[in-house]
Amino acid sequence: MPKIRYERPVLKRLESSMPNKFGMRTEYAPMPQIDGVAVADLIKEHGSPLFVISEKTLRSNIRNARKAFEIRYPKVQFAWSYKTNYLNAVCSIFHQEGSWAEVVSGFEYDKALALGVNGRKIIFNGPEKTVEDLTKAIGHDSLIHIDHLEELYTIVNLSEQLNKKPRVAIRVNMDTGVYPMWDRFGFNYENGQAWDAINKIMHSGRMELVGLHTHIGTFMLAPFAYGTAAMKLADLTTSLREKFNHDIKYIDMGGGFASKNTLKGSYLPGVDTNPSVDEFAEAIASALLNANFKKDKLPLLILETGRALVDDAGYLLGTVISNKRSSTGKRTTILDIGVNILFTSFWYDHKITPAQPFTHYAEDTMLYGPLCMNIDVIRENVSLPLLNKGEHIVVHNVGAYNMTQWMQFITLRPRVVLIDEASHVHVIREGEKLESITAMEKIPEYLRKFAL
Ligand SMILES: *Cc1c(COP(=O)(O)O)cnc(C)c1O
Repeated sequence: MPKIRYERPVLKRLESSMPNKFGMRTEYAPMPQIDGVAVADLIKEHGSPLFVISEKTLRSNIRNARKAFEIRYPKVQFAWSYKTNYLNAVCSIFHQEGSWAEVVSGFEYDKALALGVNGRKIIFNGPEKTVEDLTKAIGHDSLIHIDHLEELYTIVNLSEQLNKKPRVAIRVNMDTGVYPMWDRFGFNYENGQAWDAINKIMHSGRMELVGLHTHIGTFMLAPFAYGTAAMKLADLTTSLREKFNHDIKYIDMGGGFASKNTLKGSYLPGVDTNPSVDEFAEAIASALLNANFKKDKLPLLILETGRALVDDAGYLLGTVISNKRSSTGKRTTILDIGVNILFTSFWYDHKITPAQPFTHYAEDTMLYGPLCMNIDVIRENVSLPLLNKGEHIVVHNVGAYNMTQWMQFITLRPRVVLIDEASHVHVIREGEKLESITAMEKIPEYLRKFAL
């Protein structure tokens, strides 16, 4: 008998038509309107797919977050993380609510300035700041958070040339008990790099060391990690006081608080399991209050919270193109929403609800986008009622990173509208047209003609 060839086993959970812990019912109720505006009307007026941002939710999120920190700590300042969502209207809402700007590139820096943010209230993070970027930031007296020694030396040089004393902080990374550690940005605490950078700044006498910064990760589910990080930064301030008799003005704890999205592979929805802003605030405020600060020397606490403030304020509306059965008989539904505009579908099981009432019969469904690409999957498995061609769905919690990481690919990027607190709808970004793309292209003269 010939030897049978070994084949690597593959384990795959069979989910089709199996009840979950909650039985066979669909996960959600229909969502026919957002902030008093009918989904069907939004799509009729602005097309499908369509991004929708709720101003009411944005403002209530930032107010609640501020309150969570301010009741625990006396000096708090939020700075809006531009890369999380840098649509001008969104940034302006945060600036109206008192948030400074937190930027990580020359492009974002210019965007904040153009929007009218005072340069002194721009925090400049990130590993790539060109000489031009730094010259501009020093000129505007912005807060420059140094990422590496090359940057530190460039600033020393520029401070001489410009005859200015730039306001700087260093970014510190550390072991917070959450792994893998984010140690690629800034200077490490445990191995002494952070203390080394601090000494270089203090002895040069060319910069004003105003703060210490960290950003320990993103979509963090462990508030205790922030407590550990705050303690380590507070330790550095003690050493600074002892050696240089220098008090820093602020401690910036970065962003990274988890939003209410559900990470792929989680059994329970993120709304039930992810920590609230209050839990993060408690960990950070306790660590700082319990540290060695005299009452009148308590540093300002800066927070660069991004996703936790904007994710649930964003919705993506879409329309059913068709239904099919896969080769295994599983129901598949094709939507007009592709992964090119919903990047976060690679790591979240987004909550998805039909926009119209439905019957109680539900079936495990695979949701595909419209792209001619096998990876274009919006949900691998979601219990949904039957959706007919032309019906609408609402994707929830899409406010963070999708409107900055989206790409024009095969289809054009859609409009974005804002629903204000009086339920008026404003277009805040036009949908792309063919000309939006071709306007940037150039064609060499000799390629202009062909005969077919
Ligand atoms: C991305 C980023 C943030 C915001 O992170 P979220 O996970 O969106 O809260 C804050 N600070 C820095 C330095 C960042 O790079």
